[in-house]
Amino acid sequence: MISMVITVKLRMDTPGGVTAPEALPDVDNVLPLRRDTTGRPHLPGTTVAGSLRAHCATYDELLPEKTLFGIANDVERIPSSIQVLGTRYLGDTNGTVRHRTAIDRERGAPANTMLHGVTVLPAGTEFDIVLSWDNPDQREEPFLRALQEWRPRLGRGASHDAGRCSVVGLGHRKYDLTTVHGLHTWLHLRFPDDYPAPEPLAEPQRPLEPDYDVTFEIIDGLHISAGKPTADSTSDRPIINEVLRSDGRLVVPGSTLKGNLRSRAEYVCRVVGAGACADRRCGECHPCRLFGFSGESRNARRAKIAVSDSVIDNATTDLRTHVAIDRFTGGAREQLLFTDEVVTAGRFRLRVYALEPLDDVDRLLIDTVLTDLHDGLVGIGGRTTAGLGTVRITSEWTRPDLTTLADRLTGEIAA
Ligand SMILES: [Zn+2]
Repeated sequence: MISMVITVKLRMDTPGGVTAPEALPDVDNVLPLRRDTTGRPHLPGTTVAGSLRAHCATYDELLPEKTLFGIANDVERIPSSIQVLGTRYLGDTNGTVRHRTAIDRERGAPANTMLHGVTVLPAGTEFDIVLSWDNPDQREEPFLRALQEWRPRLGRGASHDAGRCSVVGLGHRKYDLTTVHGLHTWLHLRFPDDYPAPEPLAEPQRPLEPDYDVTFEIIDGLHISAGKPTADSTSDRPIINEVLRSDGRLVVPGSTLKGNLRSRAEYVCRVVGAGACADRRCGECHPCRLFGFSGESRNARRAKIAVSDSVIDNATTDLRTHVAIDRFTGGAREQLLFTDEVVTAGRFRLRVYALEPLDDVDRLLIDTVLTDLHDGLVGIGGRTTAGLGTVRITSEWTRPDLTTLADRLTGEIAA
């Protein structure tokens, strides 16, 4: 038997990581990373194998891929020819906590009370992945090519572009286990020192181009809450509701942008009579198909798109004070003065990556929401009812023809 050992070096292009499945968020609502027995961040082989299997399924030459990666169903059980022997974390940090605000569905704006954090590894983090292939056959060349074109998204948060990886190195070696020498060498392989060292790719992977890359200018002010108001109890100063920062920079999280896109897409679908479910679980309506849905675990489906976090360039901030309005009297409530930190100027990008092919209706929905954002019909972030969140597209952009929008969304005419 011939055993082929392959080492793949992955580099994370965006922050991310695999969170511990058994862990509940701690007291601060922070999800920890998955770790090995020594406490170092860990990339599970099952996660890698699942992603590689899905990737190889897109190559005709690798069919039937089921025999490469095995099959287990009611009819047959075939072991996988390709095994993940191990993964090796090459970074030197234990991860940093990134706070996220969940989107309040009713308001389409970030909800302060649902703040949570996720521990992530920084962009640039590398992992070596060691695979073995028993008796490699004529699929060796296409499989090695598939590895060089592999762009896995590993861990939590694929739909906001977390954990996007490139392959930056590859090494492989074969052992003939029918010879004494080959078998002896193979049996004494120690992980990770003896495995084939990954060499840089002859043709490095090019940076992934987003399917949509739109630059927005902030018109009146943007408020994406950091979630925790800072209160100064020793003075009469009002509570300051700060904007979200990441590593000291003002940011618009992909999750906020995606939430805003979805809320407006649902509104548009309802208005034209195409329908959109209220609980985001039906799996049938256009927004569920584009933005994913939860539900029974085997029924859930991730979004077709990933929306990246964006730094706000040339940002200026200001403080704006307002009084809380009493919901019952409609008047100002006594002693409830709030100060919001607001980004009054700056530019940020909306970058959307297709995680699977988008159809005409998907693109139509995205184009419609972009148009509504540009036209000021809907805003981004919080306090949009108070006039915040208006943006305008400043990058090159062609206004789509939406005159037959309703007919296309309801399927009266082809999208
Ligand atoms: Zn639905």
